[in-house]
Amino acid sequence: MNLGLSEEQQMLQKSARDFFEKECPKSLVREMARSEAGHDPQLWQKMAGLGWMGLAFPDACGGSGGSFLDLVILLEEMGRACLPGPYFSTVVLCGLTIVDAGSEELKKTQLPLIARGERLMAFCLTEPSASYDAAAIAARATLQDGHYLVKGTKLFINDAHIADDLLCVARTSESHDTDQGITLFLMDARSPGIACTVLNTIGLDKQCEVVFNDVSVGNEAVLGNPGHGWPVVTRALERAAVGKCADMVGSAAAALEMSTSYARERVQFGRPIGSFQAIQHYCANMAVDVEASRIVTYYAAWRISEGLPCAMDVSIAKHWVNEACQRVTTLGHQIHGGLGFCDDHDMHLFHRRVRGSSLLLGDTTFHQKAIAGELLA
Ligand SMILES: Cc1cc2nc3c(=O)[nH]c(=O)nc-3n(C[C@H](O)[C@H](O)[C@H](O)COP(=O)(O)OP(=O)(O)OC[C@H]3O[C@@H](n4cnc5c(N)ncnc54)[C@H](O)[C@@H]3O)c2cc1C
Repeated sequence: MNLGLSEEQQMLQKSARDFFEKECPKSLVREMARSEAGHDPQLWQKMAGLGWMGLAFPDACGGSGGSFLDLVILLEEMGRACLPGPYFSTVVLCGLTIVDAGSEELKKTQLPLIARGERLMAFCLTEPSASYDAAAIAARATLQDGHYLVKGTKLFINDAHIADDLLCVARTSESHDTDQGITLFLMDARSPGIACTVLNTIGLDKQCEVVFNDVSVGNEAVLGNPGHGWPVVTRALERAAVGKCADMVGSAAAALEMSTSYARERVQFGRPIGSFQAIQHYCANMAVDVEASRIVTYYAAWRISEGLPCAMDVSIAKHWVNEACQRVTTLGHQIHGGLGFCDDHDMHLFHRRVRGSSLLLGDTTFHQKAIAGELLA
C-alpha cells in the first residue's frame, strides 16, 4: 500500500494551499466567524469555480468524479486555512449521502446545484442526547394521508441557519433493534414548522438547534428505503469522521509550523527558545502527533475510497486524531508563552477548531466504545 499522493493529488493540494493563502487570510477567517452567516458567499463562489464542491461527485451529476481520498486532501487544506463555512455540511455530509442513497431524480437535480455552489445543505442527525448512536434518534416521522409529519429537536447542527435544504434523520417505526425504522428526509429548510436557533460554541463554527414541529414532507423527500436509513447514516458518519480528522490534521500541521517558526525567532536568555531542550521536545512531540494523525487518517480514507470495511479504522483514526491534535495545539500555546494566551493570536483559531472537531462525529469516548465493541464482539 502506498499512501503517497499522486501527481494530480499533489497539484490539488498545492492549488488549494495557494488559494487559501491568497484568498482566505486569518483576518477574513475572523470576519467570517463573527458574521451572522458564518461564511463569505464570494469566497464560496470562487471555490465552486475551482470545481471543489463537486470534487467527489460523479461526472454525470455535475461533479469531477474524484475519490474520497482527493476530498480528504482538500479538507486537510481547509483545516490548515481554518476555513469556516458550510462546505463540510453541504458537500461531505449531505452531498455524498445523496450520491449514496438519493433517487436518480434527486441526484440529477440536487448534486449539480451543490456543485455549482448554488445550494447549501445541513445534516440534521444529533439530538439533545448528543449521541451518534441509532438509539438516540427520537425524532419521529408519522405517515398521515400520504405525507410524513416530522417532529423532534435536532441539536449541534452545523450551518442549518443558512441551509437551503435540511437532510433530517427521523424514526418512522419502532423496533427492538434500534438500527431499524430510521428514515432520511431531504426537505426545504423554509418548510412551515421548522425553527432554527444559532448556538454559541467554542469552535468558530455555526451550530444550531433545529426544531421540527409537524413538518409535512412527501414521499419524494425520502432518501433510500423508508425504515432502512441507518446503514446510509453509518456510511455518512464514517466518511465525515475521517473528513473531520483530515481537517484537524491540517489545523495541527499549521500549529506545528507556526510554533517551530516562533521557536527559531524568539530569543530568551540570549538564545532562540528552539535551542532549549524543553522546546525541542515539545516540537518533536507535536511533529510525531501530526504525522501519526495524518497516517491513520489517510489509511482510513484509503479504505473508504477502496470500498473496504473500515469501521474499526475510522474509529481508531478519530480516537487518535481527537487526542493527538489537541495535544499539538496545547503545546503550540505553551511554546508561544504569554503571546499565545492572547485571544488575537492565531493559535486560538486552530485550538478552538480542533477542540470543536474533536467532539463532532464521535468524541474519543464514543470511538473507544466502538473499538471495544469490534474487539470484544
Ligand atoms: C495570563 C497570564 C498572566 C500572567 N501574570 C503574571 C504576573 O502577574 N506576574 C509575572 O511575573 N508573570 C506573569 N505572567 C507570565 C509572564 O507574563 C510571561 O508570560 C512569562 O514570563 C513567560 O514569558 P513569555 O510569555 O515572554 O514567554 P517566553 O519566555 O518567550 O517563553 C516561551 C516558551 O519558551 C519556554 N522557555 C523560555 N525560556 C526557556 C528556558 N531557558 N528553558 C526552557 N524553556 C524556556 C517557556 O517555558 C515557554 O514555553 C503571566 C502570564 C499569563 C499568560
